[in-house]
Amino acid sequence: MPACNKMKDDASMEDYEEHRLSGLTIRIDRDLCAATQNCIRVAPEVFVLGNDYIVTFVAEPEDIEQDRLIEACAVCPTDALIAINESGERLVP
Ligand code: SF4
Repeated sequence: MPACNKMKDDASMEDYEEHRLSGLTIRIDRDLCAATQNCIRVAPEVFVLGNDYIVTFVAEPEDIEQDRLIEACAVCPTDALIAINESGERLVP
């Protein structure tokens, strides 16, 4: 079962959402999202715009092709989406 975390680090005030799927850890830096929806156009099975106009994960996202998930993160113009592989290597941005 994929793991999903919502984190609010009070010390730094950074606001993250994180989900493991398709062999990657995907992190949304909510402070950086500008609601352009580029990521949603590439991977609508994974990302959705929330009521607060910040992207979030769909409920219970399923694995998709890893390359497409990486592309969905890479098309973010504000580097709000971070993709990390199983070795801990940061692939995006
Ligand atoms: S592409 Fe980036 S800025 Fe645009 S909605 Fe997705 S996370 Fe937000």
